[in-house]
Amino acid sequence: MADVLILGTVALDNIETPFGKADNAMGGSASYAAMAASFFCRPAILSVVGEDYPKEHLKLLESRNIDISLIKKEGKSFRWEGYYEFDMNEAKTRKTELNSLEGFKVNIPENYKDVEHVFLANIDPELQLSALKQLKKPEFIVLDTMNLWINIKKKELLEVIGKADILLLNDGEARMLFNTTNLVTAANKALALGPKGVIIKKGEHGALLFMDGRHFSAPGYPLENTKDPTGCGDSFGGGLIGHLAKTRDFSEPNIRKAIVYGSAIASHNAEDFSVNRLKNITMKEIEKRYNEMKEIREF
Ligand code: AMP
Repeated sequence: MADVLILGTVALDNIETPFGKADNAMGGSASYAAMAASFFCRPAILSVVGEDYPKEHLKLLESRNIDISLIKKEGKSFRWEGYYEFDMNEAKTRKTELNSLEGFKVNIPENYKDVEHVFLANIDPELQLSALKQLKKPEFIVLDTMNLWINIKKKELLEVIGKADILLLNDGEARMLFNTTNLVTAANKALALGPKGVIIKKGEHGALLFMDGRHFSAPGYPLENTKDPTGCGDSFGGGLIGHLAKTRDFSEPNIRKAIVYGSAIASHNAEDFSVNRLKNITMKEIEKRYNEMKEIREF
């Protein structure tokens, strides 16, 4: 069994940014998250792809020590088409084709029911709830989502937030979900639902953690070469849960470290389209950026 179970999408993306475009590119919340987590431990992906999903994409995941045996194959692959304008912090969705995701039912095999660490990456909150119902007693659950689910499945999303240890939201989603312009208010409203901590991601400007009555502000890494921010949120979450699963320390000081690892990986991810950067970076490069982040926030 793997160290972390990641439920999310494995997709084909069409992406356009001010710096170029990529068609039929490997994407999906679980793909990015698992690639990022694989720097720390062995992840497994729980998802579905179509019969048309390129074998080389699945092989790449496998080559990163990711367990892909829980990825079902049926119908046509989930597709997402998005673009960014000059503010690269906000992805605009052109088209979402659910395809095989539409009839997807979560079915966790017996040997995975006592997995200890879970990342509920961005996917329908009903599927996230179904996964949690089937798992015995995971030690640590991190949850992510997106504006689409806030719009169409808010009730289910609020229910799954109540079962998570850490909730990840970007700033726009936090304002939208809790109907406030103030991020501190949004974080407090999120904590009132039950999670131990809330992380508000602020794109290139870093991330905020609210936990144990404390507040941590992680810097964004000052990147000059940003090509495609797709998957930055997912790789942030993957790096975070990967570090936590490796260290098995869920204390607030260690979550701060996990955030900085997540940010370091996400900043690398933005340097190229799709998973092209994630497949080439080394742990040494991640550590280097992690250490630079320490210097950035010292005063
Ligand atoms: P991020 O940039 O981290 O928010 O995630 C981008 C990835 O999310 C892309 O690779 C998409 O394939 C995937 N994605 C887009 N829409 C959805 C959705 N509704 N549910 C799950 N994953 C999605």
